[in-house]
Amino acid sequence: MNIASKPLVFRFDCPWCGTKDVSFKSCAWCIASPVRYSDWFGECGHCYRGVVVSVPPNVRVEDAQDMYRTRDSSFGEVTIAPTLPSTGAPPHTPANVERFFEQGMANLSGQWDAAGAMFRKALDTALTAKFPDIKGSLAQRIQKAGDDGLLTSDMAEWAHEIRRLGNEAVHEDDPFSEGDARVLHSFTDLVLRYLFTLPGMMAVARAGAGEEADPSA
Ligand SMILES: [Zn+2]
Repeated sequence: MNIASKPLVFRFDCPWCGTKDVSFKSCAWCIASPVRYSDWFGECGHCYRGVVVSVPPNVRVEDAQDMYRTRDSSFGEVTIAPTLPSTGAPPHTPANVERFFEQGMANLSGQWDAAGAMFRKALDTALTAKFPDIKGSLAQRIQKAGDDGLLTSDMAEWAHEIRRLGNEAVHEDDPFSEGDARVLHSFTDLVLRYLFTLPGMMAVARAGAGEEADPSA
């Protein structure tokens, strides 16, 4: 373990508070032999939580964020612990739905109204894209999709328990609580996986199996 008398500053997106490109103050690092990776302990300038950034040999920790962002592994892989939560929509989600989901994720570090509204919008757009013939309020459409076997009955049932989806007493203008936003995030993520990721993976797997089974290929 090496201790610096003067702190070094590097920038990263904080996995704890979600602040983008925040300064981390670092006074301690170690170099792991024989791989010569260096592990830097940093303190977030916003929430004061700690992270460990591991950088390959011959890479400055100040340059690590750019390599992490662009997945540039020409010198080796840069990692951060704890892991940054993924902010992307589940695989195979259509682009217009993904846009709303990502805006929800970008606000899931304290802007609960914006996050909640964007997850609702992602859900709304996803159901419209998948089932254009099902009309009505969001809650009604989820119910109908559940009744028709297009969503699982567990999902439709859970939707009713989500304050901002199933509870008619909640007014559209009511602010989202942190709990509202987080549960809506989990539900939206699950629905997108069911509607888009599973069928998408299935199509990929079948296409792969088809290629293998084709003797002329
Ligand atoms: Zn932080």
